[in-house]
Amino acid sequence: MYTASCLCNGIQLKINAEISQIFICHCQQCQKAQGTAFVAITPIQMKDLIITQGQNLLGEYYATENKKRVFCRRCASPLYSARSDLPDVIRLRVGIINEVLNIEITSHAFTSEKADWFEILDDHPQFTQHVQPSQ
Ligand SMILES: [Zn+2]
Ligand SMILES: [Zn+2]
Repeated sequence: MYTASCLCNGIQLKINAEISQIFICHCQQCQKAQGTAFVAITPIQMKDLIITQGQNLLGEYYATENKKRVFCRRCASPLYSARSDLPDVIRLRVGIINEVLNIEITSHAFTSEKADWFEILDDHPQFTQHVQPSQ
């Protein structure tokens, strides 16, 4: 069990699942959405995410037709994304989790779009396009 919150603390979340993977996405949409070089996400089942406070603060944005990005409408923290064709699995933004995770990065995706000023310094697998299909 983990907890998570947005920057203003208006949205409080509980995660009823083990978190064992961190995927880094370097695509240009994620760069724009986070305002930095990449996003760090962990896939979890929607049923394992409990919004304990701030449901009214949730905003949604569709940069592409089949994927919504959910954020806090007050402080703009990115919270998770979800694909319309895979509604049961969400991609939680790892940076909003409150606890220490003690796990390593699983892999890097979309390195073909990586910010030129950012250098990948770890040895974890890199994919030029999508994250590995098993996700
Ligand atoms: Zn907030
Ligand atoms: Zn991305």
